Amino acid sequence: MAKIYLTRQMPAAQELLGHHFEVEMNLENRILSREELKKVVRDFDGVLSTLADKLDKEILEHSQKLKVISNCAAGLDNVDLVVAKGRKIAVYNVPDATTQSTADMTFAILLSLIRKVAEAESYVKKGLWKAWEPNLFLGEELYGKYFGIIGFGKIGKAVAERALGFGLKVLVFARSKIEMIHPRIQQVPLDELYKKSHFISLHVPLTPETKGMINEQAINKMEQKPVIINMARGAVVVTDHLVQALKDGRVRGAALDVTDPEPILPSHPLCHLRNCLIVPHIGSATVECRSLLVRSAAENLIGYFNDQS
Ligand code: NAP
Repeated sequence: MAKIYLTRQMPAAQELLGHHFEVEMNLENRILSREELKKVVRDFDGVLSTLADKLDKEILEHSQKLKVISNCAAGLDNVDLVVAKGRKIAVYNVPDATTQSTADMTFAILLSLIRKVAEAESYVKKGLWKAWEPNLFLGEELYGKYFGIIGFGKIGKAVAERALGFGLKVLVFARSKIEMIHPRIQQVPLDELYKKSHFISLHVPLTPETKGMINEQAINKMEQKPVIINMARGAVVVTDHLVQALKDGRVRGAALDVTDPEPILPSHPLCHLRNCLIVPHIGSATVECRSLLVRSAAENLIGYFNDQS
């Protein structure tokens, strides 16, 4: 019977997989050390991993019987796909489960930042709310502004649908011609998106091409001093360049679900900027999404071994 390891506590997956395999789970529910990961890839036939498990070259070179990695995430940037392929390890992600939750969160963090939701809530709970004030927590509207979307896949499209609901004019940068036709959605070259957008929302995977694409050079093309929303991966943005641009006003705000480094320490300069809102990579953190993610990742393992028999 194949042996499967679950790198975090995922009881629903444990139950499902338990009908088919010998299953072990990380009961401490903490991120495994590199030494522990090496042992997992050495001793198990399959692993149900999360994006916090860096299954890079050094780790995968310790694999002996590992046949399959099922990553409980939309992205696969935590797995060295070239090494996995070379060692004939099948790799699965869950492409569909995260779309709606991540698109929702895009607007949750954007609106929280530009309408100062966290500051306002803390003001109330500290007992500072004495009366209605004409200029208290003034923010800005979305309606009628340009909303740039970079990466028009599943999440980018779901974000565009929501943007239309807010009355935004959507500018899309995508490498192939887009099919989503609406009078307020326009496909434009990247430089035009940078030039016109009041908000720039990132929805590309992390690849050699997208790594660091939001850098000093790109920021200097952004004429509207935009708010940048990063729901993609931290390393799509060059953090030091973003910090500087937030300080000198070339970028008027940043709403970040993902950061580089991740996690980010409170001592990091980004955490000291009032025009930067950071949440701890919770784009997919809804009950609906996470249960679908875990179930689908478990089913990917079952499907893989069924196909082999
Ligand atoms: P997807 O459906 O595969 O869409 C990704 C899109 O990015 C594709 O349309 C792709 O276009 C485009 N793209 C790739 N490289 C590009 C480039 N260099 N320039 C312009 N466009 C490029 O994936 P998704 O489900 O929308 O997810 C997107 C990413 O979001 C994931 O890879 C993951 O990193 C991140 N994510 C984050 C969270 C979170 O919790 N924050 C949750 C889920 C996903 P082509 O068709 O031309 O390749």
